[in-house]
Amino acid sequence: MENLNLFTSTQDVIQDALSKLGYSNEMYDLLKEPLRILTVRMPVRMDDGTIKVFTGYRSQHNDAVGPTKGGVRFHPEVNEDEVKALSMWMTIKCGIVGLPYGGGKGGIICDPRTMSMGEIERLSRAYVRAISQIVGPTKDIPAPDVYTNSQIMAWMMDEYSRLRENDSPGFITGKPIVLGGSEGRDKATAQGVTICIEEAAKKKGFQLKGARVVIQGFGNAGSFLAKFLHDEGAKVIGISDAYGALHDPNGLDIDYLLDRRDSFGTVTTLFENTISNKELLELDCDILVPAAISNQITSDNAANIKAAIVVEAANGPTTVEATKILTERGILLVPDVLASAGGVTVSYFEWVQNNQGYYWSEDEVNEKLRLKLVEAFNNVYSISETRRVNMRLAAYMVGLRNAAEASKFRGWV
Ligand code: NAD
Repeated sequence: MENLNLFTSTQDVIQDALSKLGYSNEMYDLLKEPLRILTVRMPVRMDDGTIKVFTGYRSQHNDAVGPTKGGVRFHPEVNEDEVKALSMWMTIKCGIVGLPYGGGKGGIICDPRTMSMGEIERLSRAYVRAISQIVGPTKDIPAPDVYTNSQIMAWMMDEYSRLRENDSPGFITGKPIVLGGSEGRDKATAQGVTICIEEAAKKKGFQLKGARVVIQGFGNAGSFLAKFLHDEGAKVIGISDAYGALHDPNGLDIDYLLDRRDSFGTVTTLFENTISNKELLELDCDILVPAAISNQITSDNAANIKAAIVVEAANGPTTVEATKILTERGILLVPDVLASAGGVTVSYFEWVQNNQGYYWSEDEVNEKLRLKLVEAFNNVYSISETRRVNMRLAAYMVGLRNAAEASKFRGWV
């Protein structure tokens, strides 16, 4: 039976990677779980006057390298195991791009699509009050993730600044520009995915111009990515959201779709001729980018994937079993911990700019991002070639090294 539990399947890959790197079982014992996870219950007054109690989490995987860092997700399916796994992936992502952070992640079980702006604001502020003891600019720095955005980051930053009675822009990243956000942060994840796609296409020996691309998810990551690839001359033939997918073998009108999508990344509800997300993943294409949710490519459909390159913009879209099947079939899989590291990289740039109080241009940000991601991609690719392991295992090997070495130097293991 395939393991669809993101937490335990991540533990398996971590164990494999640490053993390939020659670390002891004690190191695995340290890194197999977060150092701490806080569960919070937050009473929030709803617009109709009733009180609803929400549950949320903040997980801090490893802070040997530096403060922990990672997004906050608002989603009905948030659960403790998912938040733990996401925080572990953040440690690995930060290690791959060489950021002075460990991994953290947060989540609240809620559906912001059914809540008013006022309710979302009160919940965001309640979350900051509930986790304030364990977060901060030198402890743990949150950021946006699924169904959270720069407005929510602004409310959270304001709440934290009021609690601490000083202006604390470095408490959170992904803020609006006027509150200390970084140029290029909103597009950073998609920018990073685009760089990985360019590098992967070079390895596979084909041009982006004219390549057929399918993207699952049309939110922050998926929509900007569609735009970048479209502008580079690729043909985006399929996109999707939570409600269905659109397919046009001649290429979709991306500018039109971007114009019509709502703030939750929904656009397919405006069309009649839709296909399912399942059908979308199996479309004939050159590049497939899952950019929505986890466990989308499993042992059930891995044999039917037709793309030559699968680049994971989402966290955890491909199971460990499916990774093996795709690799055996000669498909180049660029794993989430590498492909989606652009977001945390520019979040780091935002934090650096907040700390120094001096702000960079978008070109400067993008140039620094490109340098980091091209190097990271080639590091992971060369480990995968020299050690003859799949790209996911290679990425874990590269990404865990900093946390393991820092834990050793600190005398923890
Ligand atoms: P988002 O909330 O902006 O968009 C999510 C998109 O996924 C929407 O189009 C939504 O309709 C779609 N979706 C939701 N449920 C779905 C389902 N069941 N089937 C198909 N589509 C569904 O989120 P985002 O920020 O674009 O994040 C997408 C993925 O990228 C997540 O896995 C996230 O963890 C990952 N990621 C995001 C960032 C970032 O900076 N935004 C960074 C790293 C990784």
